[in-house]
Amino acid sequence: MEKSVKFIVTGGRGFIGSHFVEEALSRGHDVIDIDKMTYAAHTSLPWDNSSNYTLKVADIAEIEHLPSCDVIFNFAAESHVNNSIRETEPFVKSNVLGVHNLLNLVRGKMKYNRPLFFHISTDEVYGDRLEGSFLETDKLSPSNPYSATKASAEMLILAYSRTYGIDYIISRSANNYGDRQFDEKLIPKCISSIKNDKKIPIHGDGTYIRDWTYVKDNISGLFCILESGKKNEIYNVSAENHMRNLEVVDEVLSWYNKDREMVEFVPNRWGQDLRYSISSQKLRNLGWSPSHKRGIYKWY
Ligand code: NAD
Repeated sequence: MEKSVKFIVTGGRGFIGSHFVEEALSRGHDVIDIDKMTYAAHTSLPWDNSSNYTLKVADIAEIEHLPSCDVIFNFAAESHVNNSIRETEPFVKSNVLGVHNLLNLVRGKMKYNRPLFFHISTDEVYGDRLEGSFLETDKLSPSNPYSATKASAEMLILAYSRTYGIDYIISRSANNYGDRQFDEKLIPKCISSIKNDKKIPIHGDGTYIRDWTYVKDNISGLFCILESGKKNEIYNVSAENHMRNLEVVDEVLSWYNKDREMVEFVPNRWGQDLRYSISSQKLRNLGWSPSHKRGIYKWY
């Protein structure tokens, strides 16, 4: 992409959104970041005073105006499964009504002036599977309120595209990890527990399998899709790096010369998914491959 693009990024103060903003700015693009600044948002980031970055503190479910732009990257969401099991409303509001509102704002623009709606979804919309990997064409079967809201948003996007002619791209990403991830997720929780000499809580017996992708590989995948992918398509983004939760914890423990004595097994979360696995062949066919393919990359 040679010319400068004007992006609206929603949720750009969160974990993955902040890496997208960082990369977009470093490529010379303009970013308007719409973020509600929930508990998961970073209050201060190195590019806050950059001339091509603007932060608007607002809820995507409530905004009434969308500044003009070329592409909307929608990262904004309530993202923590355990919170969604405790209280579903904020998830429905941000993840479903928020997307509904953004789609209506896009629809309200003249056709020639409508941005591409690039929506960030998750491998969790497929539910779990014990063998093999999901393709983009497989049926959605979410297991918990978080993934159900993400799947609902996707349904709205497909319907708005068919009914009103809105152009979209949906990426479904595997578990991301890296710098700036909020403490509630597995790897940052391990690191903070080790640093504070506390036990690391692991659901069940730690055998659940997730597909771990370094966040900057996810971002390079998103730019690859934007530059080389087709609109009105869905792309899985995954390093296809399957690890049991306990293997992930072992690796992080080894960074600090600690052992399994620090692990505490806690009851399963309700509706626990056993194994996530998606194929990223469609994205790889565009020329993308992850820079970190196996294990957990020690990013700092
Ligand atoms: P995060 O919780 O770290 O950040 C979410 C950001 O969105 C925060 O800055 C928050 O303030 C903002 N936000 C939340 N609700 C909002 C609203 N209504 N209006 C405006 N801003 C709002 O999340 P993350 O881990 O960076 O995930 C980003 C996106 O990627 C989410 O859509 C999530 O579903 C998806 N995803 C995440 C992962 C992962 O491993 N973290 C994997 C696959 C997909």
